[in-house]
Amino acid sequence: MTSPHRRALPSLLVSSIIITFSAAPAAWAKSPVATGTGGAAATISVQATQSAMTILNQGGNAVDAAVAAAATLGVTDPFSCGIGGGGFMMIYLAKDKRVITIDHREMAPANFKPTIFQQDGKELDFEQTVASGMSVGVPGTVRGWHEALERYGSMPLKKVLQPAIKVAADGFKVNANFSRLVASNEAKFQLFPATAKLYLKDGKALPEGSLLRNPDLAKAYRELAAGGIKVFYEGKMARAIVDTVNNPGGKVRAGAMTMADLANYEARIRQPLRSTYRGYDIYGMPLPSSGGVAVAEALNILEGYDLKSMPRDKVEHLYLEASRLAFADRNAYLADPEYLEAPVQGLMSKDYAARRRELINPMRAAAHADAGDPYPFQNDQSVPLRPAQSKLLAEGAHTTHLTVSDKDGNIVSYTFTIESWGGSGITVPGYGFLLNNEMTDFDFSGPHPNVPEAGKRPRSSMSPTLAFKNGKPAFSVGSPGGSTIITTVLQTIVNHIDLGMSMSQAVDAPRLSERNNTATNIEPGYAASDAAKALEKYGQRWSPAQEEIGAANALLFNADGTVTAVSEGWRHGVGSAQVQKLGH
Ligand code: GLU
Repeated sequence: MTSPHRRALPSLLVSSIIITFSAAPAAWAKSPVATGTGGAAATISVQATQSAMTILNQGGNAVDAAVAAAATLGVTDPFSCGIGGGGFMMIYLAKDKRVITIDHREMAPANFKPTIFQQDGKELDFEQTVASGMSVGVPGTVRGWHEALERYGSMPLKKVLQPAIKVAADGFKVNANFSRLVASNEAKFQLFPATAKLYLKDGKALPEGSLLRNPDLAKAYRELAAGGIKVFYEGKMARAIVDTVNNPGGKVRAGAMTMADLANYEARIRQPLRSTYRGYDIYGMPLPSSGGVAVAEALNILEGYDLKSMPRDKVEHLYLEASRLAFADRNAYLADPEYLEAPVQGLMSKDYAARRRELINPMRAAAHADAGDPYPFQNDQSVPLRPAQSKLLAEGAHTTHLTVSDKDGNIVSYTFTIESWGGSGITVPGYGFLLNNEMTDFDFSGPHPNVPEAGKRPRSSMSPTLAFKNGKPAFSVGSPGGSTIITTVLQTIVNHIDLGMSMSQAVDAPRLSERNNTATNIEPGYAASDAAKALEKYGQRWSPAQEEIGAANALLFNADGTVTAVSEGWRHGVGSAQVQKLGH
């Protein structure tokens, strides 16, 4: 493929520039915040952040470094992401002042039809469908990395995979978080011998401190390094994927993927969504992710309030109500744009937001919001599809987000996933990676825009986001967490812009996720806080199911030209932020 945007290698080696690192290799302490003067990286894994820094220090750009970090996360966080899944990458090209996105969401195999997840007119059991060959979509990650590097990178895949190959071959120490996650998935992993062999010992999760090597994944990466995307989509690896999906073993349901499904897979270069919020330009992910639309609609609703003059409890009450309204619309209207024209323009219009705002009682939580009618706010109102139903799907809460910038000002904000923890639970034998269960992000029954169809991409919530002020990068942010991704990104923006928190305070603050459910999701310990009590006075209600929400990573571009990389300060075993310090 030709590479019109391929950049020359940044000239890091010119004599006037001295590179030092914020942390010497021997002391790769896991620090969630770092400020520097060159490139920066924030991920949830110390090894992944280190891989990004290695590539930046070798002269790679942000795209090269993001792929290096992503490949490493596929080793150290294999239950959240990897080459068996898909994702959405947002890239800012500093020289062109342009934001683009690469949609490499998994695609439904050609045998899919709207009733595929039904039997005798009833929806199949969700958990059984997750752990099955049927839930596996055609993986998009390798194609996404290929497009990113070919079009916008400066290094070949072969080079950027090297740090991840080393981690997979040498191994890494299992931490408490990793061990806990495996323990909670023992039943699923026991169904699949190749998965059990890798992550269980005598049927139990590997204990904290175990050295975990994944030589099969190192081999898979080496084959990709040598042969490129053809290996994955047409070669031996493709055959192994198809055979595994169609014969997953045991009593689990088989899928019906074909070699043609893999060979036909394409990534999409999509125009990002642009909205504005209090003087910021906010770039969000377009469909088939609902993230960009939902974040923009909620921010547009909030923009009508003078939040800066309000106490925190009131700001948070309004944030929850705006999110409720945006989710009513998101749940009703959004799906793969190649299958259905969703009213995106109407949903993102400021006038529509004003109409939605009228529904908010500033003193009282609503029990439920109905989807609105955005069609009068579209230029073309000719084919209105009124919402058929409004529901929140049972989605996983696990994915990963990373963000990288380079010394030339390019930025990547990248979320990718295999959907549930451990995806379908099926490891491709001999290749050491888990296959996604992304197809369970479809509605199991219709009528709904998001029903399964051949070649379709299920609606996502992934929300890699970039914000600009006066044409200059201001911050990047994103998170895992299924549909809570949207609320985490939204709340982090409100915390930072409206509540005046630093980016690390904004990331570390307690998360509240209102998705037009009967009650708001909160994190353990929050219900007893004064902040929770203050919100209860507005009638806000908390869901009893309480766990950590999200694992955000962000970059903040400071007025003095420095960049601050921010990861989680306490969630998910603490994230890892590193920066370059370039001096003259
Ligand atoms: N499958 C989800 C989505 O695309 C992501 C899964 C997660 O974050 O847990 O929105």
